[in-house]
Amino acid sequence: MQNLSLQIPMTKEVEKPEMIAGETVLEINLEAVKHNFHYLKSKIAPNIQFMAVVKANSYGSDASEIALELEKEGADYFAVAYSSEGEILRKAGIKKPILVLHPLLANFDIIRDNNLEPALYSKKILNAFLEFLKIHKLSDYPVHLKINTGLNRLGFEPEEIADVAEGIAKAKEMRVSSIFSHLVASEDDKETDFTRNQIRMFEKAGKVIFEKLGYTPLLHCTNTSAIIRYPEARFDMVRSGIGLYGYTYDPAENKNLAPVATLKTVISQLHNIKTGESVGYNRGFIAEKPTKSATLPIGHADGFLRAFGKGKGWVIINGKKAKVLGNVCMDMVMVDVTDIECKEGDEVLVFGAGAPADELAAAIDTISYELLTGISSRVKRITVKNRIYSYKY
Ligand SMILES: *Cc1c(COP(=O)(O)O)cnc(C)c1O
Repeated sequence: MQNLSLQIPMTKEVEKPEMIAGETVLEINLEAVKHNFHYLKSKIAPNIQFMAVVKANSYGSDASEIALELEKEGADYFAVAYSSEGEILRKAGIKKPILVLHPLLANFDIIRDNNLEPALYSKKILNAFLEFLKIHKLSDYPVHLKINTGLNRLGFEPEEIADVAEGIAKAKEMRVSSIFSHLVASEDDKETDFTRNQIRMFEKAGKVIFEKLGYTPLLHCTNTSAIIRYPEARFDMVRSGIGLYGYTYDPAENKNLAPVATLKTVISQLHNIKTGESVGYNRGFIAEKPTKSATLPIGHADGFLRAFGKGKGWVIINGKKAKVLGNVCMDMVMVDVTDIECKEGDEVLVFGAGAPADELAAAIDTISYELLTGISSRVKRITVKNRIYSYKY
């Protein structure tokens, strides 16, 4: 049994080579990914498979590094949103099956060339893919059937699946690896009845498909919050994204997880602002008293959203919250350090280990997912593992 109380090396404790100090970086802690994976796995029976969701560059971090770590640790399956994301994983050397959640008609070549497994969600895409397989003389190609149980985003309607499965049963070109659906509000206490009904609909649809196919593909419908809240819905496989990166809907549960991505920056310059002077574009902040400001080399082009302006958002400097002064610029932001002991060159924590992304997200009515995935490619990703840094530009 894995020791789940293992100490996660917080990036702060890691000895840092000089050369990476002094700029904006996103630190990706592979020890934290490993810990989160084993923690989530400890919640499910050992015979249930684990699909790691690594779409959107592993929620804004580094999909290749994360997937390689998870493959080594025993993830059974990977999921990406788009085909090109699957191609990146294959180039990185990922061998495990990769589900493409949202394949498009234009992407079939990438799917085949990289041995990716498409989710089929409409008759149109099913027929087009079948045609593609015929042209290329492929057989038993693994596909997944997506059932719409209420999200109304992608998926076959429960009423059409008998017909669809009957057609697939006759086609030797493809074989269904799994049947899945996506829950609408699995983290929401007020939607428990709705969620239970989705799970029932899904199970029923699965049975209809089994019967028509004459074999039993894997069933899966839980995302991170459902893994925790709906044990009855784990079926043959669970899918987890946000939990692997250290967050759930539940602050108590978050204590068992470790944030994987930590966004850090540095103080470039300090200014003493006199009463009546302003800071930043459009005089977004006007000092009512003498104020000390710190300028940071991070702005909305890096993913530090403009919505954080005028005191809504903050960063952590020497253990204290420094609120945003005025408007966030494209490449910089100024924060209030009037009451904070600090100097130019000091490290600044934006979110991650020691500064939960979900708290900062809540300050502007969004969710951790959006903050994490919004960190732009300009921000250097640094992978931390066992006190060794590797570099990615
Ligand atoms: C993104 C996604 C997930 C992962 O959800 P988390 O809440 O991040 O665990 C699972 N399934 C589907 C279909 C998704 O699109």
